[in-house]
Amino acid sequence: MGRARPNEFHPAMASGPLGGRIALVTGSTSGIGLGIARVLATAGADIVLNGFGEAAKIEKAQAGIAADHGVRAAFVGADLGKADGCTRLIVEAERVLGRIDILVNNAGIQHTAPVEAFPPERWDAIIALNLTAAFHTMRAAIPGMKARGWGRIVNIASAHGLVASAQKSAYVAAKHGLVGLTKVAAIELANAGVSVNAVCPGWVLTPLVERQIADRARAKGVETGAEEALLLAEKQPMLKFSTPEHIGAMVRFLCTDDAATITGTALPVDGGWTAQ
Ligand code: NAD
Repeated sequence: MGRARPNEFHPAMASGPLGGRIALVTGSTSGIGLGIARVLATAGADIVLNGFGEAAKIEKAQAGIAADHGVRAAFVGADLGKADGCTRLIVEAERVLGRIDILVNNAGIQHTAPVEAFPPERWDAIIALNLTAAFHTMRAAIPGMKARGWGRIVNIASAHGLVASAQKSAYVAAKHGLVGLTKVAAIELANAGVSVNAVCPGWVLTPLVERQIADRARAKGVETGAEEALLLAEKQPMLKFSTPEHIGAMVRFLCTDDAATITGTALPVDGGWTAQ
């Protein structure tokens, strides 16, 4: 568990549709999570960042969010591959910024191999982070949301929470499971003022996908740029990547009062991937 590092607190509540709300985004030191954190801050939410990475880069991201948007920003380090890391993240985030109104379960990892060659330890790690961590953070955060009568939980699943691809058994199983967990919690919390939804991105060019493209390009002996185009053409009718900000915009909408009756959904942001 890393040390919690709040920046200086801004006395005035930031304006915007989420002004006064406090959002924890897991896995927000990189990629989609960082994009979501920035978009929520733009809407006025105070932010708790979490994830792995170099301390200096994390401090820069944290300070940038606070300075650019006039919100409070904190960082709480925790390994969410472990149950106690998840629970302590919630406790520490609540201690540092007071409560959690918005929980975005975003941290995730990937590994590709056919089922018979899939290393069991990679299976365990993917299920632990991409699925079980969301159970543990929700379990710890829901009582506070219920007590206050307001909460938003957004689970970042994937197009792979709705359809499958070869070589991704653990990832597809975890993301389908995350969509199921989302539906159950949505039903349980339907009259508690707490909505629970999943967002299902298609391809977003982040370090997680850059690694897959580099591996594929190396295996075929082709340029990364050429492999990027092939990767999109295989799955995504709209032949361009979504950005972390596109995913953030969907999360932001789900957190507003306009989305108060949207719950239990799995919303694709996938350039047409799952329309096929
Ligand atoms: P990324 O690799 O850029 O970011 C992953 C984040 O998770 C990082 O902040 C990392 O530090 C953090 N993390 C990794 N292991 C952790 C652990 N044990 N404990 C705490 N934090 C940990 O990946 P990304 O592409 O931004 O992915 C974010 C989420 O979006 C994942 O759940 C992923 O499955 C999902 N997703 C991504 C894509 C895509 O095309 N990039 C598509 C669909 C879904």
